[in-house]
Amino acid sequence: MRILNQEELELITGGTTLDSVYVGGQHPEVPWEPPYIPDQPGDTGGSGGGNEGGGGGGGGGDDDTYEPPCTCAHPVGTEHTEPVVDAFAAKVARDILAKPNASSVEYMSIIYRRADGSVGTTSMASSGQMDSVSNPEIQRVVNEAGGLQNIIGLVHNHPMAIVNDSNDTTISLKANKMPSTNDWNTAGVLFQGRTDPNYALYVVGPDNVLREYDYKDRAVWEQRVDTGYIRRSPNAALGESLSLQTPPPQACPKHP
Ligand SMILES: [Zn+2]
Repeated sequence: MRILNQEELELITGGTTLDSVYVGGQHPEVPWEPPYIPDQPGDTGGSGGGNEGGGGGGGGGDDDTYEPPCTCAHPVGTEHTEPVVDAFAAKVARDILAKPNASSVEYMSIIYRRADGSVGTTSMASSGQMDSVSNPEIQRVVNEAGGLQNIIGLVHNHPMAIVNDSNDTTISLKANKMPSTNDWNTAGVLFQGRTDPNYALYVVGPDNVLREYDYKDRAVWEQRVDTGYIRRSPNAALGESLSLQTPPPQACPKHP
């Protein structure tokens, strides 16, 4: 193998220009995954005939005191929380891709947890690079989230324009499906070093695919980039791809 030149290194590490990019094209290395279907409020108790008592949920169908199960994303129970956060990430990704200039402009939104345990997203930040904590737009949405302590997820896109501007579009396309080093550094600041299992960077790649990168796995992902993993393994695994069709989370029937 050969030594990467400076431009290639910059493409992989996030470099000097926008750290992301690409859209369209064929991406056979991305395995198809069944779309995630979150639990619906009615699923656990069920009004259908035969499954009462199965889920430990709200009880049987004839009980007048039945309370629907809480679907808020409470701080406890990461298994319970992650699907909710993923669904919010999918919603942000759809909003980003609906922008007419999403293939050339970076957008970013923060997923955060409110004091009551529910989850929300900020408005969209977009001005220059979305991987610098000193960016006033990022500061603005951090404030919208109520401060760093509330942040649980970051969603941003890597526009195709960056790939198109690069000399090696194959490398750039691959690299921009992943968080850049600057992205990880920004996440480190915004997450304040917390490594809760469900804190994640969500990247909408130049191929318009939403992928999840757990912050707790940062060292693994960064090592893959730093060792030239992308060039050596063109079919290397990427972050888990999430369906953009993931429906928005339902309002909690218990805490609307
Ligand atoms: Zn980025």
